Amino acid sequence: KFITFEGIDGAGKSTHLAFVADALRALGKQVVVTREPGGTALGESLRNLLLHEKMHLETEALLMFAARREHIAQVMAPALARGDWVISDRFTDASFAYQGGGRGLDRGKLNALEQWVHPHLQPDLTLLFDVPLDVARARLDATRTLDKFEQEKAGFFDATRTEYLRRAAEFPQRFRVIDSTQPIDAIQQQLRALIESMAG
Ligand code: C5P
Repeated sequence: KFITFEGIDGAGKSTHLAFVADALRALGKQVVVTREPGGTALGESLRNLLLHEKMHLETEALLMFAARREHIAQVMAPALARGDWVISDRFTDASFAYQGGGRGLDRGKLNALEQWVHPHLQPDLTLLFDVPLDVARARLDATRTLDKFEQEKAGFFDATRTEYLRRAAEFPQRFRVIDSTQPIDAIQQQLRALIESMAG
């Protein structure tokens, strides 16, 4: 089974990813935990470029999918073929949300890349950790007025979140939207129930 974790930065997905991996291992499952961009030596090099170099928006999208192609070939496909569970911190939904929603890259181009790189592979379950922007911002700093750069960033994350939610509505059979304003143990209860029903 293939599970992806998605959400805007600071939504808490990494904490919950570790919880789900542990819960599955406790059920006796073989679990491969990985992340995007990254997941392979080449992918981690590309991640480093993606996070630190300035580049054209389309270059960014192409490198994301190049890293993903390698990730699928080296890690995901072999693990799934062995019958392992694969848990990935982000996958293609993040390209739609960040490069598409956040930066405004045409969705048709992202669809074409997805068709090229993984025409047949989709997550069995995508957990979207959703938190409203004002809550996220309040968590960061409730008192300061935002400067111009920070306002642009807020707009970027707002568009990213909107695209995530649009994807969740478009693919309801694999998406579960988790209200990430809830206390951690309430979220973990929900996750445990989901995992147990999936692990059969
Ligand atoms: O998931 P993680 O926080 O490690 O991702 C690192 C950064 O990469 C995030 O801050 C996110 O903004 C960015 N990212 C992106 N486009 C993607 C995936 C991640 O801009 N497709």
